Amino acid sequence: MWTRLVKQLRNDAESFAKSLMEESLDPQIWRATSTRLATYQPEAHKRPLDCPYCWIIEGEKRSLQPVPGPTQAIACSACGSEYPLE
Ligand SMILES: [Zn+2]
Repeated sequence: MWTRLVKQLRNDAESFAKSLMEESLDPQIWRATSTRLATYQPEAHKRPLDCPYCWIIEGEKRSLQPVPGPTQAIACSACGSEYPLE
């Protein structure tokens, strides 16, 4: 379960970083984005997990929290990103 989730979080972080860098020609943004991507480590067994969107795009550490209710998922209350826990 965690392996798949961690892989998905990392994939998302990478694609957010890629789209941010594709939209920008500013070397400062490139540097900042690659630094944030390098420090995004969902596989580091740190809990709670940080939201990849908020960290890469907004530069804010926001945690993914369990969604109340029958759905097994974790979500970010700031941007609404949701990841199923299967
Ligand atoms: Zn978020």
